[in-house]
Amino acid sequence: MSIRRERFWAGDVIAVDQNYVPMQEMTRRKAIRAVAGGRAFVLMPATFERNLEFMSAFALVIFPQASACAESKLLMGRLERRVMKRDHHICMYESCSHKATTVDHVLPLCQGGQTTWQNLVACCLLCNQKKGGRTPEQAGMKLKKVPKGPRAHLFERFEEIIKEASAA
Ligand SMILES: [Zn+2]
Repeated sequence: MSIRRERFWAGDVIAVDQNYVPMQEMTRRKAIRAVAGGRAFVLMPATFERNLEFMSAFALVIFPQASACAESKLLMGRLERRVMKRDHHICMYESCSHKATTVDHVLPLCQGGQTTWQNLVACCLLCNQKKGGRTPEQAGMKLKKVPKGPRAHLFERFEEIIKEASAA
C-alpha cells in the first residue's frame, strides 16, 4: 500500500452538501455509517459522480438532503482543537516557532474579543503570557497570518483532493 493511500485512509472525510459546498470534516467511520444508512453517497473527486459502492479509499461524501450553513454547530464543534489543527499546533506569532500549547484571543476577551475562528490563534505559553490582555498592536507583536474561518480550511482541503484526483 502506497503512502498516499495510507494518508487517505487515515484522514477525515469531507462532507459536501447538495451543491457540492464543503460542510464539515467527519471521521471515516461516520461517513461509512451515513452511506450505509442511505443518507450520503461516496463522491468521486475527479468526476463528481456518486459512487454506490465503497472504494478502498475515499475522501468525499455527498449529503443530497443537506445544505451548508455558516452557523453549523458541527463546524463550530470543538473549536479550540480545530483552531490548533488549522494552525498546525505552531505558535502564530511572528518570529516564534514554538509548539503551541494554548489558544490565544487576538482581541482579548476583556477588550470585547469573541471566541470565534477569526479571533483565535494557536499560541505558545510564552507568547500568550507576554501578550497578556493586550491586542497584538498594544503588545508590539505581529501575527504570521490572518486567522481564517473553518470554511476556508475546508475549501482548501477540498480543492487539494480535487486537484490530486485530477492529476492521478
Ligand atoms: Zn510563541
